[in-house]
Amino acid sequence: MRQEQQVKYCQNSEVLLFVGRIFFSFLWRAETAGTLWLLCCQRVLLCEKAGTFAVAACSAANLWQNRGCFLRTESRFEVFMSTDKSCNLCPHYCPVDRESGQKGRCSAGQKVEISSAYLHHGEEAPISGVNPADGGSGTIFFARCNLRCIFCQNWEISQTLPSLRSDSWEASAEELADIMLKLQARGAYNINLVSPTPHVRQIEVALRSAKSRGLTIPIVYNSGGYDSLESLRIMDGLIDIYMPDAKFAPLNEEDADSPDPLAARLFGAADYVRVNRLALLEMFRQVGHLRPERMVPARRGLLVRHLVMPDDLARTSRMLPWLSENLGPELRLNLMAQYRPMFLVRKRPAEYADIPGLTRPLRIDEYQAAADLTRSVGLNRAFIRPHF
Ligand code: SF4
Repeated sequence: MRQEQQVKYCQNSEVLLFVGRIFFSFLWRAETAGTLWLLCCQRVLLCEKAGTFAVAACSAANLWQNRGCFLRTESRFEVFMSTDKSCNLCPHYCPVDRESGQKGRCSAGQKVEISSAYLHHGEEAPISGVNPADGGSGTIFFARCNLRCIFCQNWEISQTLPSLRSDSWEASAEELADIMLKLQARGAYNINLVSPTPHVRQIEVALRSAKSRGLTIPIVYNSGGYDSLESLRIMDGLIDIYMPDAKFAPLNEEDADSPDPLAARLFGAADYVRVNRLALLEMFRQVGHLRPERMVPARRGLLVRHLVMPDDLARTSRMLPWLSENLGPELRLNLMAQYRPMFLVRKRPAEYADIPGLTRPLRIDEYQAAADLTRSVGLNRAFIRPHF
């Protein structure tokens, strides 16, 4: 009877290991492989004599055969892109093959395009630190952007064609990894990737390479908040701090999933609200609230930026309650006040005469009303400007 049980157990083990073999063959995350290995070990401890040897031998063979699970460094992007050559890095889903040199709405190419890389002391305190003599944020400004904000203050970087600029350069993933390591060597608190969305593919390869060569400081993903879930899942486990914009809220909650003509006009993305909310929730799922709470610089978590606009154009009055309800009152929020009519709004004001708020700076009473609402909805960890 006991022998029969052992035979049955060994047969069950073989079935279990066969399933495990398939899993090991497809999973690339070392931690997942490690978890399965631990489960296997627990079974080995329960096994007796011949069963123990057979199971241990099979497990060792599995691990050896699938050792690439632990060593693999190729891009996760290939997993997402192998069957469909259109770009899925943002929800524009441009029907172009970036690998063969075609360009979509953002005009980003095969290589990353970098505008500048330096130690930045002007970001939020958890990112740049509080002492200008120390580290700072190792900031890499990428050219190209998947949004088309008509008042963009960085439009020369984000929306000017490469042929019209001389201050940016193309870099391979390996060159990008080198830049990250140099910033770390200069004392950067973190690597701050500004406008990374169109370059996620190359960033992922660069991060894997840089981490394997000693990059240990936190990685900050600093985007306009219009990121696809596919793109964010490629970044899952590689990013420590997400710092997205939450630019815009719906007129009514019932309209949150509907295309919004004002969002199309302001940001070039009619579905900004729906996409942004999904992205914020996914980012929060990955990293949680910003930590540590008091000390700077931060090591991990979510920091959301919201720019208050004149005449409540960004619908701050709807944004703040949603953030508090869905991401919690512990959320680190930067309530920004620097709206100025820039770029197209400044160049062609007549085109925007029907939106009068766009053509003037934010008033102090408008910012204070937003600050009061931030406190009243319980967002007590928000950065609110004491002076205007
Ligand atoms: S990242 Fe650029 S090319 Fe890719 S879908 Fe977005 S806008 Fe299109």
